[in-house]
Amino acid sequence: MLDFPRNRVTAVTLGIMQDGGLPHIGCRCVRCTTVHEGRRPPEYAACLGLVDRRGERTAVWLFDATPDIKYQLHLLAAGVQIAYTGQIFTL
Ligand SMILES: [Zn+2]
Repeated sequence: MLDFPRNRVTAVTLGIMQDGGLPHIGCRCVRCTTVHEGRRPPEYAACLGLVDRRGERTAVWLFDATPDIKYQLHLLAAGVQIAYTGQIFTL
């Protein structure tokens, strides 16, 4: 579980894979096959989160969010309360 200290700004890497993460859609390479077969966990697409706990309210900023954000937000939500104010990203 992630912990975000008060009075600080924390950068969190929420994914490191390019494009759609691992496995890639329709790919049959060795790396993707090992994920499909359950021998390796999937990896999320690259995304950076910044959690600002310097003020009374926690601010969360997401950079380069992808559809994997539905999984990655759970990582951030473990340490902060996140309020949605509208559309997060546009495909
Ligand atoms: Zn592949």
